[in-house]
Amino acid sequence: HETVYAIASGKGGVGKTTTTVNLGTALAEAGERVAIVDVDLGMANLAGFVSLTPDSTTLHDVLAGDASIDDATYRLADSIVAVPSGTSLDEYAETSPEGLRDVVEELRSRFDYVFLDVGAGISHETVLPLGLADAVVLVSTPEPAAVHDTKKTIELTDRAGGEVAGLVLTRTRPDGDVSHDELGDRLEVSLLGTIPEDPAARDSVYAGTPLVVFEPDGPAAVAYRRLTADLTGLE
Ligand code: ADP
Ligand code: MG
Repeated sequence: HETVYAIASGKGGVGKTTTTVNLGTALAEAGERVAIVDVDLGMANLAGFVSLTPDSTTLHDVLAGDASIDDATYRLADSIVAVPSGTSLDEYAETSPEGLRDVVEELRSRFDYVFLDVGAGISHETVLPLGLADAVVLVSTPEPAAVHDTKKTIELTDRAGGEVAGLVLTRTRPDGDVSHDELGDRLEVSLLGTIPEDPAARDSVYAGTPLVVFEPDGPAAVAYRRLTADLTGLE
């Protein structure tokens, strides 16, 4: 099976980090060894989603050549670790993303699944992980602006030599006037799953607990478990 997934979007704020955390947690609950990695180097925030307060060492230190990947790896639960990124502008300024290739290959050799929480946009540090991953999971809301920006991420994935796995539509509403399958067709990618709008998503961030743990029977959590099973073939 594919090991390294990049979770990517054109537009920001569409649910990439939520998707990364919940795919990872659901797989870890199924007994897989999982690493979730914050490669959104400029706007890192994955740590907060899982109540992780890294000591000084983050992915930025690894990329700066000042620390090993072990030093920046934090255990969240039995079978899942997180690699957070630093959040200060100074750390960002000192980082070069080139070292990401080695980091990804090292993690690939140690885990069953690695999820890269990629930054939005079209910068070099966003494009690089798209080519390092085995498969790119596109995340978008049904909003036209987000769908439009998804086209760019598809094109960038091609240019980076990456492979698109398909699209996850987030924050969908029952009264939405656009067919979800049609959005997939329009982008010429398969629809991997839809995650409904669910206030528990935001509440879970404030609680610092993954949605699939925070409210396991809520609509978004159920949808994330379904997506995990469909994406990986694991139940
Ligand atoms: P990104 O990583 O793409 O910037 P986030 O995962 O941080 O996006 O999500 C952006 C915001 O949307 C957060 O406040 C999050 O709680 C909220 N959100 C994500 N998914 C859902 C959902 N299914 N329903 C409601 N709110 C959501
Ligand atoms: Mg994010």
